[in-house]
Amino acid sequence: MSETTEFRTTTRHMLKRSRQYASQTLMGGLSGFESPIGLDRRDRIEALKTGDIGFVHSWDINTSVDGPGTRMTVFMSGCPLRCQYCQNPDTWKMRDGRPVYLEAMIKKVERYADLFKATGGGITFSGGESMMQPAFVSRVFRAAKEMGVHTCLDTSGFLNKNYTDEMIEDIDLCLLDVKSGDEETYHRVTGGVLAPTIEFGQRLARAGKKIWVRFVLVPGLTDSEENVENVARICETFGEAIEHIDVLGFHQLGRPKWHELRIPYPLEDAKGPSAALKARVTRQFEDHGFVVY
Ligand code: SF4
Repeated sequence: MSETTEFRTTTRHMLKRSRQYASQTLMGGLSGFESPIGLDRRDRIEALKTGDIGFVHSWDINTSVDGPGTRMTVFMSGCPLRCQYCQNPDTWKMRDGRPVYLEAMIKKVERYADLFKATGGGITFSGGESMMQPAFVSRVFRAAKEMGVHTCLDTSGFLNKNYTDEMIEDIDLCLLDVKSGDEETYHRVTGGVLAPTIEFGQRLARAGKKIWVRFVLVPGLTDSEENVENVARICETFGEAIEHIDVLGFHQLGRPKWHELRIPYPLEDAKGPSAALKARVTRQFEDHGFVVY
């Protein structure tokens, strides 16, 4: 077994017991993974810390959505933010995800490695918040880099402190959500604070990584000229690292999930941006010299 695929155990009894369940094949968005569903709570927490398992909501293969080329996007469970416009509130709680072996995830990357390389694609970790499980994600990234596979982290950067400089080394591209440009708006939009996002972007830039910034444009929430200007100024601090900014118009595709989960949905009656608003925001970013999609 190569070093890449070696599965380091947290405790021996834990693995022995959990593998009794490993023959079960999970269907749907987790098909094909062995899942250590027999672990007790304490063992799961320990394995989560070491990255021997990760809690995964689902995964898919897509093209040019979450980074360049054909990619495997893995949606991790758990998110500390509560964005008003969240499309995936079903990923908020880590415990709602399914535990997946590190080894199984790495095997999955290996299986598609040739396709990734042929298309300039790779693996993307998204969420939820991908930085909530730094050990698992960074160990998969390390293995991917050893295979020559491109790595991409889709994140809000809110958990900047979870990532060491060494972990950052294995990120080729970051899809960084800059959800607003000032603390007050950021807090209103997400319930969190803005500073860690800025710091994470600057650390990526210092490490020579590439960034695609994502900004969700919600009329009446994130669309003020001042807010957009502030987002642009933050992006300027990332210097050459930014390849482009995605201005993503708000839509209501996530509304049914809020209803299903019986969570009060703050944007019940919100509309997507008009073409004129999108053009104004695009122009604002372009005036700062950014390429905007
Ligand atoms: S960071 Fe993403 S997953 Fe978390 S609440 Fe915001 S939009 Fe939803």
